[in-house]
Amino acid sequence: MPRRSRPTPDPWLVVSDADGNLFEVPEYLALARSGGTTVRAHPEQFAPLPEGSLIFHLPGRKPVGFDPRKGRAVTVEEVDGRPVFAAAAFLAPAHTALFLAPWERQPEVQPLPLYCYAALGFRDGGFVSPFLRVDPDRRQDPVLFRQEEIDAGAARMRERFPGNRVVAHIVGNCALTYCCPAARNFCLNRWEAPIPTSPACNSDCVGCISLQKEGEIPVTQPRLDFVPSPEEIAELAVFHLETAARPVVSFGQGCEGEPLLQAERIEAAIRLIRQRTPAGTININTNASKPEAVKRLVDAGLDEIRISLNACRRELYDRYYRPHKYTLDDVAASGRAVAEAGGHVSINYLMFPGISDDEAEFAAFEEFAARAGVRRVQMRNLNLDPDHYLRALGLPADLPPGFGIDRWVKRAQRALPHLRFGYFNPPREDWGPPWPGVAASGRNS
Ligand code: SF4
Repeated sequence: MPRRSRPTPDPWLVVSDADGNLFEVPEYLALARSGGTTVRAHPEQFAPLPEGSLIFHLPGRKPVGFDPRKGRAVTVEEVDGRPVFAAAAFLAPAHTALFLAPWERQPEVQPLPLYCYAALGFRDGGFVSPFLRVDPDRRQDPVLFRQEEIDAGAARMRERFPGNRVVAHIVGNCALTYCCPAARNFCLNRWEAPIPTSPACNSDCVGCISLQKEGEIPVTQPRLDFVPSPEEIAELAVFHLETAARPVVSFGQGCEGEPLLQAERIEAAIRLIRQRTPAGTININTNASKPEAVKRLVDAGLDEIRISLNACRRELYDRYYRPHKYTLDDVAASGRAVAEAGGHVSINYLMFPGISDDEAEFAAFEEFAARAGVRRVQMRNLNLDPDHYLRALGLPADLPPGFGIDRWVKRAQRALPHLRFGYFNPPREDWGPPWPGVAASGRNS
């Protein structure tokens, strides 16, 4: 007689005490959150926390777990007479959360710092979380970074580029202070290198990591305070494109504003780069607010664009990005300009369970992706206190759950079969099939 396999058990609830010590509570099962609603994730959606992930304890937020004796969700105030608080996972790069952590927020607490707070549980002796690994590329796997090698690489770059202010910023601030994985990879002379250029921005994102005007939430990567010259940019870009493995150079980084506000300088830099080398891939991470500027960059030699957006519904986009003198139509036109020239278009779609996987949002996503010539969706987690996000978007605190981030991937693939999913900017050899709007031979001109 065939043996029946044992069903995967539900993970236990994880809480923290007032000193931040974490522990599991077997009397309660871990729950999850989608939108503003506490839900029960399927036990098989939880997997061991990827290496390099973090666990946060959340003061001012009480844990919510499933009580099997009562058959319902309960707020857990104390364990063994000790007051306890909620805990959440921050997933390592390349992993997208299927659900957020549930909690009961105490009145008058400040918004949490700019991270994603994924659901967390404990099973078989280890922490687990519901997520998808969305990109097999290991370029930011924490296990591939050794501090002594980064320090040595940083010293080599400083020696190689004396007097180059952008290299000094990437090495001293980004790689060694903010621990930015792209800057660390520049020091290690591999894969994707960052090129920040712009102190200013024409958006005012609620979750901007480089500038928070209200000062309520601390920034994690303060902005660059100068504009590098085309020569400074080209010097480091040519070196990286000619010497690194699978090289990409990317304008538009966490420690700056909007690179398109420096389009003239970037255009001059790209022309210098392409006079000196045809190697590698030139990318821009951007809010895509200026389609005319994007066209000029493509003419100069820009290969690919990654457009950031939190939602494809205008009202939700506007409430998060608070755009200054541009609209979502400009954003789509920028993507289309790159796609029609045979370049590659990604969106950095800031995933939030309950909003990204909402039916109206899915319809808006399909329409936007077709209009903007999108070939790849980079499924990054929105790094923002979820309660603060719902308030900023004018959505109810008890927003209903979405249809599921894992189902979202399947539906998007069926609706737009040419789409690829990932987390990083691909080198051109990984672009895959062209956008159906252009001939397979590449550029239209
Ligand atoms: S577009 Fe980027 S730099 Fe500008 S406000 Fe938004 S997150 Fe910040």
